[in-house]
Amino acid sequence: MSSAACIFCKIIKGEIPSMKLFENDTVFAFLDIGPLSKGHSLVIPKYHGAKLADIPDDQLTDILPTLKKLITATGATDYNILQNNGTIAHQQVHHVHFHMIPKPNETEGLG
Ligand code: 5GP
Ligand code: ZN
Repeated sequence: MSSAACIFCKIIKGEIPSMKLFENDTVFAFLDIGPLSKGHSLVIPKYHGAKLADIPDDQLTDILPTLKKLITATGATDYNILQNNGTIAHQQVHHVHFHMIPKPNETEGLG
């Protein structure tokens, strides 16, 4: 299930370019276009839904293992996993996404 108007569905289909990091049957991972730190990446279910409760359980099982892959690949030792649902909760793109935001020590910055 995808939404024709959704930018993340377009990224999954390759209609909008992205820096892809990982993909399998149910998930897609790519670099955030406006990184808060070096390696800031997003993991999304391929199933289109705006909020976490809209996604069937069987479409979510690879999300956490994929986040772990990104953590390992970036070498992040400290990091935030963030997931916003709804405009009031600061969600800007209405396709479920999990942020993986490395927290470098202060001397590393954006590099
Ligand atoms: P939200 O505030 O919805 O949790 O976060 C949306 C995130 O998507 C933001 O960090 C923003 O930089 C990222 N984003 C928005 N549009 C694009 C895009 O076209 N490509 C990529 N790679 N990231 C995007
Ligand atoms: Zn979508």
